Amino acid sequence: MTRYVHDFADGDMTQRDRLGGKGANLAEMTKLGLPVPPGFTITTDACVAYLDRGHEPDGLAEEVGDHLSSLEAAMGRRLGDPRDPLLVSVRSGASQSMPGMMETVLNVGLNDRSVAGLARASGDERFAADSYRRLLHMFGTTVLGLVDSAFVEALDGLKHERGVTEDIQLDAADLRQLIDTYQRIISAKSGRDFPQDPREQLALSLRAVFDSWNTERAILYRRQEGIPDDLGTAVTVQAMVFGNRGPSSGSGVAFTRDPATGRRGAYGDYLQNAQGEDVVAGIRNTVSLADLAHIDPASHDELMGIMERLEKHYRDLCDIEFTIDDGKLWMLQTRVGKRTAEAAFRIADQMVDEGVIDLDEALRRVTGSQLAQLMFPQFDASSPRQRIARGVGASPGAASGEVVFDSATATKLAAEGRAVILVRRETTPDDLPGMSVARGVLTSRGGKTSHAAVVARGMGRVCVCGADELDIDITGRRMTLPDGTIVREHEPLSIDGTTGEVFSGHVPVTDSVVMRALGGGRAESGDELVGAVRRLTAHADAVRRLSVRANADTAEDATNARRLGAEGIGLCRTEHMFLGPRRRLIEDLIVAEDADGQRAALDALLSLQREDFTAILAAMDGLPVTIRLIDPPLHEFLPEADDLAEEPDPRRKQRLSAALDRLREQNPMLGLRGVRLGFTIPGLVRMQARAVFEAGVERLRAGGDPRPEIMVPLVSTAAELRVIREEIETVAEDVASEHGIAVGYRIGTMIEVPRAALTAEDIARFADFFSFGTNDLTQLTWGFSRDDVEASFLPTYLDRGILPISPFETIDVEGVGALVRAGLERGRSANAALHLGVCGEHGGDPASVRFFDEIGLDYVSCSPYRIPVARLEAARAVLMDP
Ligand code: PEP
Ligand code: MG
Repeated sequence: MTRYVHDFADGDMTQRDRLGGKGANLAEMTKLGLPVPPGFTITTDACVAYLDRGHEPDGLAEEVGDHLSSLEAAMGRRLGDPRDPLLVSVRSGASQSMPGMMETVLNVGLNDRSVAGLARASGDERFAADSYRRLLHMFGTTVLGLVDSAFVEALDGLKHERGVTEDIQLDAADLRQLIDTYQRIISAKSGRDFPQDPREQLALSLRAVFDSWNTERAILYRRQEGIPDDLGTAVTVQAMVFGNRGPSSGSGVAFTRDPATGRRGAYGDYLQNAQGEDVVAGIRNTVSLADLAHIDPASHDELMGIMERLEKHYRDLCDIEFTIDDGKLWMLQTRVGKRTAEAAFRIADQMVDEGVIDLDEALRRVTGSQLAQLMFPQFDASSPRQRIARGVGASPGAASGEVVFDSATATKLAAEGRAVILVRRETTPDDLPGMSVARGVLTSRGGKTSHAAVVARGMGRVCVCGADELDIDITGRRMTLPDGTIVREHEPLSIDGTTGEVFSGHVPVTDSVVMRALGGGRAESGDELVGAVRRLTAHADAVRRLSVRANADTAEDATNARRLGAEGIGLCRTEHMFLGPRRRLIEDLIVAEDADGQRAALDALLSLQREDFTAILAAMDGLPVTIRLIDPPLHEFLPEADDLAEEPDPRRKQRLSAALDRLREQNPMLGLRGVRLGFTIPGLVRMQARAVFEAGVERLRAGGDPRPEIMVPLVSTAAELRVIREEIETVAEDVASEHGIAVGYRIGTMIEVPRAALTAEDIARFADFFSFGTNDLTQLTWGFSRDDVEASFLPTYLDRGILPISPFETIDVEGVGALVRAGLERGRSANAALHLGVCGEHGGDPASVRFFDEIGLDYVSCSPYRIPVARLEAARAVLMDP
């Protein structure tokens, strides 16, 4: 026979799934012998059965009746007894706390008769009337679904009439009048009278809790948090104790440590003569726990003792709700408390010092996203701000500065020491100089894998993308907000790359001490937070199996990445080296009229590439550096048709224009990219390979330890890799014999086309390593253009719950993930020595890192600033492994 109801005395904290968090912890506190008012919990199973069938399951009413009878016997009073009533509270409690579900109903059992009994028994008419008006208010809103304002307005109106400001200044007669008003409101607005039968009050309250599982807010929250819809909520029914019985009573909330900063020592708020939510509702000013020590020293001391005990017992920060009923302390709730990122790190570290937990457990208690929050500048929490638009939070942190609309102005102003925010519709490689000197980048188009986002993340620049409510007029040097307000160049603006928010004016930004410390800087002496982050990331390095590399394209990024813990470069995008003044050399290559012209262009590029690679190999000396052959569509290196007008040489102009026509593609991302370029532009691959090997020779001669890996992008069939590999090997042999020194190297490929993943056993015969390019693999698996969807239909998909999260952000395990797994298994089956990694944006995403660990990749590669996050999550992946 199913048992749907459990007394508090019958459960413990391991039974969250059935008793809900609240019920399980009340049971645990009861088991510990703490002063918990008795009660019982109706399990989540009952809720699930109710929601399935549309009515209470058989036997539930009887079980509730039986448990209520024992509660009445234990308390020596009957529910709603007109002479001296037992009152109960009814609360929802799912296994995970969930905003949007029904809140509490207190004082169930009061009616027009028992309110007099309560007054007589307590000798306090005001208290009895106050309790009844609270019941009517809570029952009216939470059970009958009336709007809160109907009750609040009546209360405010009465206070106004009496010339008082606080509800404790209303006397018993006032409250009796309010009770009449509330009953009239209920009858008029709900079409039924307030139920006078206490058991009916209880039954309706229980049903309302069950129904609240499916409120819109609760459903939305579950969707966002990935909580299954079929868990249901438990309900706790507990004998009332009263904090509203005058000045010797009150209610409070407390934390065993400060949940905002992590500082040691209990922290809390207390409100005299108050009940339920009063203390957090801000109706009167609360006092601190130190003040409680003066008001009621005995209860204060007992509370401190209990909190210490709870923290030891739960081995973690606890938050609690308590009530003092005429000098007697009662515990109403406890749970492991929520905390900020800073508090999470500090408390985990403190608890290791205190011998409460070990370092592994400390790592389980902090997350990569918390670390990410700590690594970036943030807006000063106390400063007011006005949001004017919202886009995609594409590269985290906060930035404030004057608006500029082009790269050149950004560079000029930054050189004068001014803070600028570069605002563009979208960015292109031409914007790189401006992006690198701006505090932040804001675009109205594109999402998390747009050019702006990827580049900004690589540079550690704050970035908000796809704020499409903004009408950006680059030539007019202004942008128009949705309400018609105009922001002109040089006006101040602030952006939050974590949340995607855009704020008007200048919002002060505070630096991240953690970033300074992780980046090799010196920590402020005795900074506990920095110490905690260092200790936990160091432990993560000892625990993790995955190695962590950086996506870095310059020696500067490489140095930075190494400081942040990178164990090599997993992706060096060489196309970024052909920008700015060098772009002309690519143009030369494309428009060359004969072999001589081509050779001259390639030679010029060769010496520049050699310098690039030498510097990067030096910065990563002794560590692997994966250099990818040029990837993007060639036309990106040609001038726009408009700019062509400025070309003075008519012959060159005509050739450029012809090349533009020739290279124009309907779908450039599906066109002449990656390895395909190598087959189209003779000598390009050989030039890049030669630059790599000659850089290697230079490093060897300088006493270095270069470990280059050449990576071929966008391979779809083994034959492509076979041909390109032969070409690269020939160059390696040539360089070795020319210089008399052989540079060690590996040749591998990106796996970023679905076909490549599905034929990986063929491809692996020509590869020393695979690096999964999950950006393109996601784009090509879903048929979602990575540059467009995040600004077009993806937000709708997320809002409507078609997708829980963008597949460009967290790896889609069932689809793209299955291809990665297939590629890995097929690749290893043909080549046991194959080294495997991932270099798409997912390489720095906490949830994705766990998946990559689980399937057995060897490394992840991500933007330099995400490296500490990836190190931490790679360790957590090992520790959380079931
Ligand atoms: C990828 O496709 O995942 C990748 C890393 O390459 P890119 O983003 O440069 O296309
Ligand atoms: Mg790619």
